[in-house]
Amino acid sequence: MLPTLVRRRWTRLSTRNLKPTWKLFTGDASSSGRTLARGVSSGAEKISKERVDAVVIGAGVVGLAVARELSLRGREVLILDAASSFGTVTSSRNSEVIHAGIYYPPNSLKAKFCVRGRELMYRYCSEHGIPHRKIGKLVVATGSSEIAKLDLLMHLGTQNGVSGLRMLEGFEAMRMEPELRCVKALLSPDSGIVDTHSLMLSLVGQAENSHATFSYNTVVLSGRVEEGKMHLLVAETGSFESRCEGVAELELVPNLVVNSAGLGAQALAKRLHGLGHRFIPSSHYARGCYFTLSGAKSPPFDKLVYPIPEEGGLGVHVTVDLNGVVKFGPDVEWIECRDENSSSFLNKFDYGVNPQRAERFYPEIRKYYPDLKDGSLEPGYSGIRPKLSGPKQRPSDFVIQGEETHGVTGLVNLFGIESPGLTSSLAIAEHVANKFL
Ligand SMILES: Cc1cc2nc3c(=O)[nH]c(=O)nc-3n(C[C@H](O)[C@H](O)[C@H](O)COP(=O)(O)OP(=O)(O)OC[C@H]3O[C@@H](n4cnc5c(N)ncnc54)[C@H](O)[C@@H]3O)c2cc1C
Repeated sequence: MLPTLVRRRWTRLSTRNLKPTWKLFTGDASSSGRTLARGVSSGAEKISKERVDAVVIGAGVVGLAVARELSLRGREVLILDAASSFGTVTSSRNSEVIHAGIYYPPNSLKAKFCVRGRELMYRYCSEHGIPHRKIGKLVVATGSSEIAKLDLLMHLGTQNGVSGLRMLEGFEAMRMEPELRCVKALLSPDSGIVDTHSLMLSLVGQAENSHATFSYNTVVLSGRVEEGKMHLLVAETGSFESRCEGVAELELVPNLVVNSAGLGAQALAKRLHGLGHRFIPSSHYARGCYFTLSGAKSPPFDKLVYPIPEEGGLGVHVTVDLNGVVKFGPDVEWIECRDENSSSFLNKFDYGVNPQRAERFYPEIRKYYPDLKDGSLEPGYSGIRPKLSGPKQRPSDFVIQGEETHGVTGLVNLFGIESPGLTSSLAIAEHVANKFL
């Protein structure tokens, strides 16, 4: 049943350039001697197998960038996403900021990919007409006790190769932004904003033009390593949800699998039999809520304004999107969730914004924006950070692992792609293609 469905969907969704080269696997497809992964049944006695070249699991901004890069380099790429469209999860629930690369430890993947990704992002946006603006950012110290932290950020940013950083006295920063109150500020002229949806739409188009194929509503339930190759078991998301169990409907046998499942990357990895669990980092989830500013005739700031970073996040900052909507956030709220339940596996998180959280936002924001009016904050949206470190732990880096780490041929796992994942997306894609093709 599903093989037809999936093939039909490939045909329908890949409106252009559908290659007739997706081959039905005609080898021994019998299930004899085949062990299905734990928690997954074949449903039918036999399920069809199909060989594919490269499978990208997850059509968020990172998966899309990877899919585009692989397909531009001549690989036949199939992108699977459990949701009904691209970018419905963390990639559409963030600040849409192109970060400069200030915050991250030198030589970390976050520092490297953020700096390189920012360059690639500005170039890509200019070349492809993606709405974006390099509006610059001020990281502000609102009391003398914070100045040392600002100095540290300046030092980190410089070590990371971020150019143009400048320490400003409070009066200089307040001259730039009259609504601002601070004692010192770090100016980052290369920070900016981007229309994430347009960016993702463009990546989809580019991937499709290079013959990539998208299959939405398709969940990867599990996988296993057999004779040195990954086998993925997939099903329609709807049938998975309605039966509350994984009944595989099709088996894919790709040469390359990129697990770019964001919040669900570890949950999925745990279902890939043959991948040692010691290679799967623990997951931590931190919700961040946004409030929008209402009743203001114009945005109070031209630049992005960030306080000193807090544990788990960059602090309740101000961003303005390309439509002029002013947003404050995100805060940090640690969420208890186990990878084994459907919250992380199918992204069933609670994204509601409790209006009462505004009470905590007002004092935080007034430290640098004292004229914020009572009642001016309205609940916006929230996003959840796919973190690898929990409260009170040292912040973790991105984890990108291939065969050299875990020993499974053709499997690349992307774990902990939190901020600055949007900024880094094109650089992560470049790295994956350079290293694993
Ligand atoms: C509050 C917040 C603010 C942020 N602000 C910024 C910012 O300003 N700048 C910046 O650079 N970064 C920012 N980030 C980080 C950035 O948003 C993420 O790093 C980026 O969106 C991650 O993209 P992704 O493709 O890895 O994941 P996602 O966008 O989550 O995509 C993963 C996809 O995988 C699919 N999936 C999951 N499991 C399966 C499965 N088993 N089978 C099939 N499909 C599956 C999901 O449906 C989803 O579509 C922020 C993040 C948060 C939470």
